[in-house]
Amino acid sequence: MHLDTRVQELPTVKKILAARLKTLGIETVKDLIFYFPFRYEDYARIVSIKELRVGETVSVRGTVDLIAQRRSWKRKGMITEILLNDATGRLKIICFNQPYLSKILTQGQEVVVAGTVREGRTGVQFTNPTIEKAQGELTHTARLVPIYPNTAGVTTRNLRFLIKKALVCVEEMRDWLPADILRAYKVPPLQKSLIAIHFPDTPAHFERARYRFAFEELFLIQMRSELRRRAKSQNHAPVIPFDQKTIKDFVAHLPFELTKDQRVATWDIVRDMARAAPMNRLLQGDVGSGKTVVGALACLDAAVNGFQAAWLAPTEILARQHFETLSELYRAVPGMTVALLTASAHAYYQTGERIGDQKVKKKDILLRIEAGEARVVAGTHALLQASIKFNNLALLIVDEQHRFGVRQRHALEKQARSRGAVPHFLSMTATPIPRSLALTVYGDLAISSIKTLPTGRKPIMSRLVPPGKREAAYQFIREHIRTGRQAYIVCPLIEPGLGEQTAAFGYNERKAVLEEFKRLHEQVFPELRMAMLHGKLKSVEKERIRREFSEGRYDILVSTTVVEVGIDVPNASIMMIEGAERFGLAQLHQLRGRVGRGSHQSFCFLFADEVSEKARERLEFFVRITDGFKLAEQDLAWRGPGEVYGTMQSGFPELKFASFSDTRLIVDARAAAEEFLKNTPDLRAYPEFRARIADAEETHLE
Ligand code: ADP
Ligand code: MG
Repeated sequence: MHLDTRVQELPTVKKILAARLKTLGIETVKDLIFYFPFRYEDYARIVSIKELRVGETVSVRGTVDLIAQRRSWKRKGMITEILLNDATGRLKIICFNQPYLSKILTQGQEVVVAGTVREGRTGVQFTNPTIEKAQGELTHTARLVPIYPNTAGVTTRNLRFLIKKALVCVEEMRDWLPADILRAYKVPPLQKSLIAIHFPDTPAHFERARYRFAFEELFLIQMRSELRRRAKSQNHAPVIPFDQKTIKDFVAHLPFELTKDQRVATWDIVRDMARAAPMNRLLQGDVGSGKTVVGALACLDAAVNGFQAAWLAPTEILARQHFETLSELYRAVPGMTVALLTASAHAYYQTGERIGDQKVKKKDILLRIEAGEARVVAGTHALLQASIKFNNLALLIVDEQHRFGVRQRHALEKQARSRGAVPHFLSMTATPIPRSLALTVYGDLAISSIKTLPTGRKPIMSRLVPPGKREAAYQFIREHIRTGRQAYIVCPLIEPGLGEQTAAFGYNERKAVLEEFKRLHEQVFPELRMAMLHGKLKSVEKERIRREFSEGRYDILVSTTVVEVGIDVPNASIMMIEGAERFGLAQLHQLRGRVGRGSHQSFCFLFADEVSEKARERLEFFVRITDGFKLAEQDLAWRGPGEVYGTMQSGFPELKFASFSDTRLIVDARAAAEEFLKNTPDLRAYPEFRARIADAEETHLE
């Protein structure tokens, strides 16, 4: 038997079993070895019959005194009764529907029985325990016993038996982790770990093996991102010398003073851009922390040096808003130009004048981009289409990058690169990523964080409104609107009265908002000016409504989550969210971040009519906590990265052994990867290891 021996060649494996094993992905001895258990049953404690206590899980060694089989009418099946005896007493064992027992067990035989002790009619007993003949080394009893996932008709017992046999072959296996790493991080060797992961002698023994595989998993991830980072740093990006005077002038003319974190982040960025290696930086900061102005500074630095910058937003509304913000911010900068280019809108800004799409042709804008005249170009990802040619793109900003997902981010980078220049890359996110996750997933990114909000902001007051207080909340809104404020009402994701299934089959969001809008407008706020925003509206319509709302022409904007990302209307101070239990904490936080952007006290009301205890607990936590980082971490703990960040589409690695809360281990793995690559620039001496890295690349990325 060797590692690549096929399972059907093993003496005990018949055709049917081989076919079933195949459905588990097991075709060779090696596959058996790598079919890991997902938990263990602890049968390690061996006690005498006299010592048995109800409720304990233990093993008992004894002799079969009696074995009898009968049919049970009540249970519709066979019952096997066994009387076991050791020097201290007698134990009754009852097994349902295991007629083979009477074939393999005989009176006088020595066996070990493992299970949980129950109270029987005539004293303690075992029901359906694991029974094993007491000869040779024990596999199924009297130890920590592995339990395997999803056995598709292969009994766990059978798997255990085969895997135990297969484990002899670990001797043929070479450890792919470099010996130096094993030593430095006290990682147990592969062969030992494989044996221990299946048949650990003690919980500590298992823990060592788990540590090995967790380390390996994280180390591979870190190697991958370190290699990627190194490959990228081989590229050449335009060197953008820091134009201190322009930047200082610009900052001096801002209507506010930059926060310390904003200044540090800006400094990080301009310093990165002054190097020939492309910047690859993530700017994270809570909603409203002022990331835009930092991006604007970076663009300005590129522009005054004669380069172009592109600013990608996830939606057209947001692209348009950035265009407006930027042209406003650059008002005092002579010669500065900004272009807007999306599928449905285009506009241009130069020397204090904004030229809308009526007055300028899209073709002209394309020409100006091509000529390098348009210095900053805001748009959606359509900006990276092959038909749009930048003259000298030096900086690419991706805003609200969590919306794009990790995979799209790589695609964007590739696209930008394939067009000649390798621009500096800055992504921004308001969904803060806990440090452990950032290190794992964005290991190849440098990170700047804006942790404090600009001064003068009043914390948003959040409330979970009980059903009976709905009317009072409406009244509260009325009063605030009377004082000149505006409000958002975000509608439930799902049509009222219909279940989740409807959502899966294409939920009609237009109808849901329409109905809610109608109800609110006719019955609740007949005297107020209201508008409605949802995803099905045409882009120009959306844009018109957003503009009119920001000009104060409506009191209330009823909307779906299209307002979630980036909409900035400082006068809006109330956010009401219906069906709040349907949102994740991060998303609720994004929605809440639409208010509290001006100097007014802002409020966020959550409605959640019928919720479970758990959902209520989540919402109450949200109401208490205003710090987006804390919320993200809690969300991660409660729901896991898949739910929070959408593992599938974003390409987050799924961890089997490690967990995102193993910050220590993640940091170690990263240090190990950096250290190793520093000393070993050529991986060719480690073919197995190289193959593992390539494997990981394939499964996690493309
Ligand atoms: P986000 O980080 O969510 O993108 P924005 O960049 O949209 O936040 O900023 C939110 C608001 O805060 C904007 O209206 C912006 O003008 C304002 N702002 C940004 N920086 C400061 C600051 N240092 N002091 C006061 N207001 C600021
Ligand atoms: Mg923003």
